[in-house]
Amino acid sequence: MIDVHAHLTEFNDILEVIRRAKEAGLEHIIISIIDPSEINRAKEIISLDPKFLHLTIGFDPTNLSEEEFSKFELLIEKESIVGIGEVGLDYYYIRDETQRSIQEKLFRRSIRLALKRNLPIIVHSRSAGRRALEILYSEGADRVIMHAFDGKSGHANEAVKRGYYFSIPTSVVHSQQKQKLVRALPIESMVLETDSPVLSPIRGTRNEPANLIYALKKVAEIKGISEEEVNRITTYNAKKIFNFFK
Ligand SMILES: [Zn+2]
Repeated sequence: MIDVHAHLTEFNDILEVIRRAKEAGLEHIIISIIDPSEINRAKEIISLDPKFLHLTIGFDPTNLSEEEFSKFELLIEKESIVGIGEVGLDYYYIRDETQRSIQEKLFRRSIRLALKRNLPIIVHSRSAGRRALEILYSEGADRVIMHAFDGKSGHANEAVKRGYYFSIPTSVVHSQQKQKLVRALPIESMVLETDSPVLSPIRGTRNEPANLIYALKKVAEIKGISEEEVNRITTYNAKKIFNFFK
């Protein structure tokens, strides 16, 4: 299993969290940061086990500061990363049209950075699934993971035709919308994530990568295939998009 999206800089008991993740059978964790200030902590964590832990650098979609965005662009240039993310749109928190247009501009710049460096992009699209996909198409994005997608399954299926992946979070255990998404999408387009410390399978508790098994089990149940098969295919998908086959 590979957790393609976890915010491990939020954890103080990181050694225990990593140990439990390995015990649960995880092969890799992709750490996501969304603020340039997290970079040192992220690198410190990755140095604990650089074969197991990998970095994607993103930019909080609710942060509309040009100055902060420049810092993010600089980090993308100089740090060793396996992808860009999470970046994207958040229409839940950003409701003002002028602010949304700034958000879109920064998202487009992030996509171009990913294309320029030939890196996969992990996309946040809260309450903005359709618009985020339209922007990705118009920019010609090809290596894409739509993370915790809350849009319509029909729009997701259109993206699948273009080879985009969808990461199914642990909250699929209780989220009707995520369950619907799993029913609608082919397993060949899925990867798994926890989005730790949020989107826990058990409401009101802190999430951690070891919980990824909950997402795997729920996907297996919905698709009517074995857990081994879900593990094999989603792990393969994650390795493929992050270029782990070398
Ligand atoms: Zn996240």
